[in-house]
Amino acid sequence: MKLYAPSTIQQIRERHNFQLSKSLGQNFITDKSVIERIVEGADIGADDLVIEIGPGIGVLTAEAAKACARVVAIEIDKKLIPILSETLQEYDNIRVINQDILKTDLNEIIDAERDAGSFAGGVKIIGNLPYYITTPIIMGILEKGVAADSITIMMQKEVADRIKAKPGGKIYGAISVAVQYYCTVTQVASVPKEVFIPRPKVDSAVLKLCIREKRPVELIDERIFFSCIKAGFGQRRKTLLNSLTGVNGLSRDDIKPVLGQADIDPVRRAETLSIEEFAAIANEVTIYSRR
Ligand code: SAM
Repeated sequence: MKLYAPSTIQQIRERHNFQLSKSLGQNFITDKSVIERIVEGADIGADDLVIEIGPGIGVLTAEAAKACARVVAIEIDKKLIPILSETLQEYDNIRVINQDILKTDLNEIIDAERDAGSFAGGVKIIGNLPYYITTPIIMGILEKGVAADSITIMMQKEVADRIKAKPGGKIYGAISVAVQYYCTVTQVASVPKEVFIPRPKVDSAVLKLCIREKRPVELIDERIFFSCIKAGFGQRRKTLLNSLTGVNGLSRDDIKPVLGQADIDPVRRAETLSIEEFAAIANEVTIYSRR
């Protein structure tokens, strides 16, 4: 059965009286090559565990199951669960969990699967994400320290562009710095909106986020690093002297010497700062605050 074929999707919808939910971001892939690009891009090994976010009717799930030892797919929509039992019935290495990914403890799942001996390799996260929660999903995985090697996911092109942006432009922001702090970022595919049912308003892209074993900068206090990023981009048109005032309770008069110590011109703006420069500022804020 060609699960990705529009006619199959239509038959499944009719047989199960299933209505696609816009609010759950249900835009299903109808192009085999896009499915293959995601699975190939994720670099899945035969011994790996694949965690899929939002399997829908199982197009990516089935393709991943052929390439790895075990797939755990997390789907919030309970109406899709009987559909997935049907579409994935020929695979014995797939577990579907009817749960909200934002409330799912992925490390617990990974530990349980490893303890059960269902995989012996790495952990790859994949998905065609529900676009309304792209950022919380990615940041949740990274901030909670999920024990995965990589996250290969489809998202709106605009969000992908922001995540991979380099300093110096309008699209470089807090999400660029945060994700690049945790991961190396590469684009695996550009995907036009025509390949989805229903067709979204915008194009998409697949990014591969390889989680770094070692962070690119040394921080005294990671929390202050993220406070600086939030403050700097929260008022991105202001100079750093102004936007950073208030960080960790520091006044404008405190921020001046902090920026001096970090060797950063106070009239610069957050969008010009590299991760290393944010780290230098954050470490000086920490040192100054501890005096
Ligand atoms: N993987 C399928 C495909 O590519 O055709 C479906 C992708 S569709 C863009 C997003 C999927 O995520 C839907 O199946 C939707 O029900 C599911 N979803 C939405 N919010 C979710 C959440 N909070 N937790 C888990 N799954 C969610």
